[in-house]
Amino acid sequence: MAKKQFKAESKKLLDMMINSIYTHKEIFLRELISNASDALDKLYFKKMAEHSDFTKSDFYIEIQVDKENKTIKIIDNGIGMSKDDLENNLGVIAKSGSLDFKKQNEDAEDIDVIGQFGVGFYSAFMVAKKITVESKAYAYETAYKWVSSGVDGYTITECEKASTGTIVTIEIKDDTENEKYSEFLEEYKIKALVKKYSDYIRYPIKMEVEVSVPIENNDKDAKPKYETKIEVQTLNSMVPLWHKNKNEIKDEEYEQFYKDRFHDYEAPIKVIHSKTEGQVSYDSLMFIPKRPPFDYYTKDYEKGLALYTSGVMIMEKCKDLLPDHYSFVKGLVDSADLSLNISREILQHDHQLKIIAKAIEKKITSELKKMLSNEREKYEEFFKAFGVQLKFGVYNEFGANKDTLKDLLIYISSNEEKYTTLSEYVMRMKDGQDTIYYACGESVEKIKLLPQTEAVKAKGYEILYMTDNVDEFAVQMLMEFEGKKFKNICDGNLDLDTDEEKEQINKKNEEEKEKLEFMKEALGDKVSQVKYTDKLTSSAVCLSSEGYLSMEMEKILKQMPNNDGMMKAQIVLEINSDHSVNEKINKLYNDDKETLKKFTKLLYYQARLISGLEIDNPQEFSNLICEFAID
Ligand code: ADP
Repeated sequence: MAKKQFKAESKKLLDMMINSIYTHKEIFLRELISNASDALDKLYFKKMAEHSDFTKSDFYIEIQVDKENKTIKIIDNGIGMSKDDLENNLGVIAKSGSLDFKKQNEDAEDIDVIGQFGVGFYSAFMVAKKITVESKAYAYETAYKWVSSGVDGYTITECEKASTGTIVTIEIKDDTENEKYSEFLEEYKIKALVKKYSDYIRYPIKMEVEVSVPIENNDKDAKPKYETKIEVQTLNSMVPLWHKNKNEIKDEEYEQFYKDRFHDYEAPIKVIHSKTEGQVSYDSLMFIPKRPPFDYYTKDYEKGLALYTSGVMIMEKCKDLLPDHYSFVKGLVDSADLSLNISREILQHDHQLKIIAKAIEKKITSELKKMLSNEREKYEEFFKAFGVQLKFGVYNEFGANKDTLKDLLIYISSNEEKYTTLSEYVMRMKDGQDTIYYACGESVEKIKLLPQTEAVKAKGYEILYMTDNVDEFAVQMLMEFEGKKFKNICDGNLDLDTDEEKEQINKKNEEEKEKLEFMKEALGDKVSQVKYTDKLTSSAVCLSSEGYLSMEMEKILKQMPNNDGMMKAQIVLEINSDHSVNEKINKLYNDDKETLKKFTKLLYYQARLISGLEIDNPQEFSNLICEFAID
């Protein structure tokens, strides 16, 4: 009988599995049990849809150990697999994502791919030298047997099996100096593993165990004698974790559940477990991951919470339960008040579901606020991972959620370069300050180099450093915080001056109007104005913007697809009124206006560079530098 080869990817993964000195070999049992449980779920649904006569207690998982032959059997009476299923499901690894991940991170040897993604069925090869899967699919006549000893491929043949379901037989590897595989054949070990990983599986996991029972004896004084009997025990409590009381659950249990269920290799940064009674009663168990999943910021990512009714899952990802700004939350909701047969379409309009979704959002908000006030460091770590999502939340839907989210925002500020909330910023404001100053740029370092930063700091004002693309859009949506307006320090109307200073600089601009207009003409529509400023200290020039669109926003809009270039910031070239560059300007204005045109361009290009903007004609810029350097 010809052996079939595994698909290339699967082969690599298998190789990894067989050869890895993987420390958590024990997860193989969890993976096989969870496959069995899925198969039972599938049959359960099918029978329900067909209105068959059955009860849930008809479904079970059984573990059989044969120490002599060194095998463990995991048996289920679930949906089973047809010949094609065996071929397609076991001949190829479903989660090829794990391999891609490994490939991208080839250097990082200790990346725990297996732990991270839970590679399902294949994990059995960590402990097995041979695996046999006998299966009969629901409503099929013939059963098939899939056999493989690892990398050299697999065979599929017909076999005898009376009832629907699957038997997975794993032949445990021989013990080595370092690895005691035979431990997995011990009853205590299997019991402990089921308790640890699979306790909440909703179907009974049964196993025949040896128990000693006292032998009846009429002589009361005689020493009691025992005999060994075989008894079938159910190893799992079948109570879903979220139905247990919070104070009965250890942190590790939450952690383990989260890792298994959501395929994360790290513990969540926050667990939110609550029971709600009221208009609609439900339990919810939610987790905030420590880091964004690798696909989080792509369109492949699907938000949502699993939806259960009385412990039975009715939907794996109900997206209506989570607002977009909290799309990073993982978890589930279980409510006895929802109907089991509810369809997706009905669900969308379901009144009760809407009530739950509202309450869930509130709960997440309040937990985040609590974390912000009580566990600041943790919150900052959370914000580094998901803050951008909250900022998008402020901006999206025309700001509908800004009031919910504004207190959750934090920014690095010029105050010790630490994170600050908006309300902390406001508390530190100087007397009479009515504006929250912020600056935008690629990085804090770049923002610090802006000439305006120096000027605003010199006046004693704190600046929020904004480095995410969405930042300024979100701030504009907020408009104000506690009555204080936001202002970009690169705004043309920064207005930091005293009345006297204002009068002085206005006067200068008025007096030099003609010259400034000449310079503006030299730049055409690149700028809307050229003017003098008193806010610069060391720099000769800077750019500011007028109107609602800042330079940073223009830059971001430019990168967007379908940008038609119509959205342009109105840029003002500002010249330091005290800078020695003025002598040259004045001289050229009097003697050589043509050269002043060129010099103005040079100043403009310089100012663009200082502001972190691109130069559209580097050639011209370079020629200008040469021209003026030589003369
Ligand atoms: P996953 O369970 O994550 O899809 P696995 O590699 O564990 O990945 O399993 C691959 C597929 O094989 C499953 O999706 C399922 O369709 C099928 N399968 C595995 N075990 C069983 C079983 N006991 N009964 C029915 N189908 C199974």
